[in-house]
Amino acid sequence: MSETTETEHAVRTAKDILGPDKDPHLDEDNPFEAMMARFDYAAELLELDPGIYQVLRQPEKQIIVSVPIQRDNGGLEVFTGYRVVHNTARGPGKGGIRFDLRVTLDEVKALAAWMTWKCAVVNIPFGGAKGGVVCDPTTLSISELERITRRYTAALFDLLGPESDIPAPDVNTNERVMAWIMDTYSMHKRHTVTAVVTGKPVELGGSRGRREATGRGCMIATKEALKHLGLPLRGTKVAVQGFGNVGATAALLLKQEGLTVVAVSDVSGAVYNPNGISVEGAVDWIREQRYLSGYPNAEAIPSDELFTLDVDVLVPAAVENAITRKNADDIRAKIICEGANGPTTAGADRILEDKGIFVIPDILANAGGVTVSYFEWVQDRMGYFWDENMVVDRLNGVTQQAFHDVLSVAKRHSVNMRIAAYMLAIERVAAVHRLRGLYA
Ligand code: NAD
Repeated sequence: MSETTETEHAVRTAKDILGPDKDPHLDEDNPFEAMMARFDYAAELLELDPGIYQVLRQPEKQIIVSVPIQRDNGGLEVFTGYRVVHNTARGPGKGGIRFDLRVTLDEVKALAAWMTWKCAVVNIPFGGAKGGVVCDPTTLSISELERITRRYTAALFDLLGPESDIPAPDVNTNERVMAWIMDTYSMHKRHTVTAVVTGKPVELGGSRGRREATGRGCMIATKEALKHLGLPLRGTKVAVQGFGNVGATAALLLKQEGLTVVAVSDVSGAVYNPNGISVEGAVDWIREQRYLSGYPNAEAIPSDELFTLDVDVLVPAAVENAITRKNADDIRAKIICEGANGPTTAGADRILEDKGIFVIPDILANAGGVTVSYFEWVQDRMGYFWDENMVVDRLNGVTQQAFHDVLSVAKRHSVNMRIAAYMLAIERVAAVHRLRGLYA
């Protein structure tokens, strides 16, 4: 493990490498453009073969399905569902399904490609996929959600499978939705197929430790970054945006490691206490009150202020495009650990780089979830289940290895951690394409 600090090598910026006319930081809002901007930049640095470049730029499959269901009031409503498989060169497509009104094909394409890079960064034998249904789950009953899930699964039956495409939970989907997918697929197959989805309840073949895995991965990566930068654990101040599965778990685990969580936020607002927030207390408060707002023993602050607090570590774990050109310059943290997918726009990358902020990019920072999903798939296929210590030990090993693999690419090419993660991932996927050759 290297003790070299980030300041020992000057990080080359996009402009240094590509010249002033070829700035890859293009679009602030479109997630597909934002992903492609980083991909193009990393591909150029790798001098990627033009043929493989073209293959990796396109998703393998983009499927749009209509999902008609009967509403509880007897009426019929047709929803739109997407599933995109970006690349399966290294193994079956892997990626979550989200139920959200903001789902678009462009967003699903970006998220599917991110999954390809994420699985390659942590070196697990999966490709990338993603899916979504355009709906507002808050306006749907449980039985309506079940009908949407089952009809969407049936529409994708030919695509899904343990060897081809394996969904998982994402925004507004959970263990229960995964159980419905597993059951629907199994009914069509005429036998139980647990390995067709991950993130299932433990009773149905889910893995111990899956629920906490993404937040745990963030904690492990943050500890590695602190070690790399020569910063202590004890007393290091943290702010976390988003207090759901990823944010709350990361906050709890970072606190257990001796860091001081001074601010947290959710969709209802942010709270701050310079002496430290009782993360357990905030979790209990949300369990009872649903939202963070009104949480006692901390001062309510405007949500935007969380990003500009005097902290050492910032964990954006809520939504895309949280860190933009508008607020990047005001960030004072030394480390940003991207718990969410795509929390930093391509435009903000340059500003963070100029400020010398050490960014643990999403495709590394939040890969703990898909890593334990891989463990779940392995356990389902073996029919032999591990205890939680085994899961935690193996997750530690995979995350630490991935962190140092990315760091060594960053040093070798004098680039930041995000571009290094893309370079590592693209090279791993490209290597498989070269070995497999082209079937024609
Ligand atoms: P979640 O629904 O459990 O939690 C989301 C949290 O963000 C909630 O506390 C919500 O109130 C808060 N939030 C929403 N909008 C906000 C805003 N504008 N400002 C502040 N807080 C806001 O979701 P999650 O599973 O924790 O996922 C969070 C992010 O992490 C998403 O980008 C997701 O794609 C990514 N991610 C999740 C996993 C996983 O295993 N759950 C894995 C990889 C990446």
